[in-house]
Order: sequence, then structure tokens, then C-alpha cells
Amino acid sequence: MCAIEAGKRGRRVAVLERADRLGKKILISGGGRCNFTNIHCQPENFLSANPHFAKSALARYTPADFIALVEKYRIPYHEKTLGQLFCDGSARAILEMLEQECSSAGVSIFLNTKLHEVSRSTEFAVHTANAEFRAPKLVVATGGLSIPKIGATSFGYDLAQQFALRIRDPWPGLVPLVLNSEDRTRYGDLAGVSADVIASCNGQQFREKMLITHRGLSGPAILQISSYWRRPQDIRIDIAPERKLTNIFRYAKTPRTTTVLRSEFRKILPLRFADRWLDLHAPASWTNNALADLEQQAHAWTVAPAGTEGYEKAEVTAGGVDTDELSAKTMESHKVPGLFFIGEVVDVTGHLGGFNFQWAWASGAAAGRAV
Ligand SMILES: Cc1cc2nc3c(=O)[nH]c(=O)nc-3n(C[C@H](O)[C@H](O)[C@H](O)COP(=O)(O)OP(=O)(O)OC[C@H]3O[C@@H](n4cnc5c(N)ncnc54)[C@H](O)[C@@H]3O)c2cc1C
Repeated sequence: MCAIEAGKRGRRVAVLERADRLGKKILISGGGRCNFTNIHCQPENFLSANPHFAKSALARYTPADFIALVEKYRIPYHEKTLGQLFCDGSARAILEMLEQECSSAGVSIFLNTKLHEVSRSTEFAVHTANAEFRAPKLVVATGGLSIPKIGATSFGYDLAQQFALRIRDPWPGLVPLVLNSEDRTRYGDLAGVSADVIASCNGQQFREKMLITHRGLSGPAILQISSYWRRPQDIRIDIAPERKLTNIFRYAKTPRTTTVLRSEFRKILPLRFADRWLDLHAPASWTNNALADLEQQAHAWTVAPAGTEGYEKAEVTAGGVDTDELSAKTMESHKVPGLFFIGEVVDVTGHLGGFNFQWAWASGAAAGRAV
């Protein structure tokens, strides 16, 4: 996006890409259909040490701007849920659109070109295995540490540090959580069961689906809250949002038995999860107080994850180049004029749902209009 905007302004642009093709993450994103933006994109959908930093770029390149591009290329798309826009067909269409825009803007693309080293005198010199590129402006768009299998490296952070820019320690975000061994024994065999929950931690909460896996918890609600979770915190899970599981016992005639309680839970929760959760949280007695306690526990089930599945499974890397080091308008370094950082390498991390691409497009456009 940065190359396209800069090329359109008549700049001579070279994109250096270590892989044998561009945009591998676009191709694997959104289950192959690329959740390319979110129509409800707001600054609140991003984590950053400075929650105001992303506002300027997001306001100057909006979801509507990207949608206009997608429509110009007649790429069919749909809203899946919660404002998330996906291609009807393959994510390849988004990549081809960006490649075509690069070509129209006169951008030169160099594949299989891994940057080893960058030096700076009057201009930047970028060294690859067998070539040197020189330019007065250098934009770093090397992404985060997620999915090392497809080539993620710490190059962007290392480069920032080389130029004495501060880094906020990165951590895996949008990642499944691993349960401690006790909970894994308790719930692991329910792998595949999913429920509508509210997951909360650190003052944030998300109401979406939770999925039980062999090793822990996943699904959108858990991926979202994982970005806010730091060891050794607990997460709280409301397993029956806006529902009352023990209401039936308000009627004097209802027998207070495990069978009735179980059948109430089964009306709201997946059968196996209802049974297991009740086996592990049986009410201490059948008094009103004990039932109220049970109700309360079901809306605040406390889970202490042992960790996350790490960068191998993380959809994004949180943390990164400290936003205090960059201009919010242009993404240029304050300390090193001519050096820019955009996309995931910056300490701006989106929620699940197309926000990370919107940040990549918006921060790229901001830099492309300034280089
Ligand atoms: C499985 C998965 C699914 C996702 N799905 C979605 C989704 O549906 N919607 C959404 O909004 N976000 C999604 N994301 C997140 C999104 O893909 C990223 O946030 C986004 O791609 C970041 O863009 P970027 O340009 O900053 O970095 P990247 O897309 O990571 O691009 C960085 C590029 O730099 C290259 N590079 C790295 N080091 C060097 C070097 N030394 N020399 C030369 N080149 C180098 C890499 O090869 C790569 O091509 C998903 C992520 C994953 C892992």
C-alpha cells in the first residue's frame, strides 16, 4: 500500500521481499478468503501503549477507501459477522489487486531479496546477498514474529534497535491459550465443543464463540482476549451470557435435584460441556445461597492459562516499535529522518476481524503519502 501511494506520487519505488512471492500472509488470511477490513473500524479496536497514535492514519485511509479499491477491481465480497468483510472467492484476488496497483504505479518488485544489513550515510544503503540498493528514504514493513514457518523474523525490530529506536517487548496476540495440566485433564477430551461466552481480562471483554481444544481454549472470544492476557493472570469466562441457569429453582414446586439442574444447563450449553462443568462445580448444597453462588460462578468461571500456543499459532505480534519514536501522521522516525516503520512491526495491534489489515493499509498509505 505504501509503495502504491508513493509510486502514484511519482516516487521511484523498489519493494524488496525475501520470499519468492508477495503477500504470503494475505493468501493464508481469513481461512484463504482474506478478512481484508472491518466496516466498524475504530481506534478502540487496537492495542498500543499510546491508544491515540493510530487515530490519524486510520482517519486518513478508511475501510471505505479500501472497499472502493476492491470494488474497482470487481472483487466479490460479503460481510461475515460484526462488520468483517471477506472475499467471496480466494484471498488471491486481493493480492493480485495490490500487485496490479503496484504495476500501474510503476513500482519495481524484487522477490527472493532478503535484506541482511542497512547502513546510513547521506542516504540509506540496503545490502542483500548479492546487491546493494541506495535510497534517501527507507520504509520498514517486515511484519512481526508470528508464523516463523512462512518466514517471520525479528529483522524489523533489530533494525529499529540498530538506529536506537525503542521497542515495546513483543508478545504473541490473537493466539489460542494453553490450559494448566489440571484443567487440560478436566476439559481436554471435550475438544471441538464450542459455546457463546464473554471472555474478560484486564478490563477488556469480548462476547463471541469459545472453542475447547485438546490443549486449551481457542475460538474468537479467546483469541481476542489472548492479546490482553499476560502470565500469570486469570481470565474470566461467562459461560451463559445474559442467561439465568438456576431460575427454575425460584418456583417452590421445582425439585432441587442434580437432574433438574443438569437439564437447565443443557438447555443453554452444549451437552458435554454442561455436564462436565457441573460435575466440576457441583453446588455445595441446595440452599438459595448455594444456587446463587453457582449462578455467579457460571458467569465468572476463572481460568488460569499456563501460556499461549506462541508465535507458531499467533495471528499477530503485539508490541513492537514504540509509537513515541514515530510521527503519527507519516510513520517517520523522529530520530532518523527518512526512516519509516509501518504495519505490524509497529506497536499497534488490531483485534480479530480485519483490523490488522486495515492498520497495514492505513499506516502504509500514511507513509506512502510522505516519502
Ligand atoms: C494465519 C493468519 C491469518 C490472518 N488473517 C487475517 C485477516 O483475515 N484479517 C486481518 O486483518 N489480519 C489477518 N492476519 C494478520 C495480518 O496478516 C498481518 O497483521 C498483516 O499481514 C501485517 O502486514 P505487514 O505488511 O506489516 O507484515 P507481513 O504481512 O508479515 O509482511 C512482511 C513481509 O516482509 C518480508 N520480510 C521480512 N523480513 C524480511 C527481510 N529481512 N528481507 C526482506 N523481506 C522481509 C516477509 O517475507 C513478508 O512478506 C492474519 C495473520 C495470520 C498469521
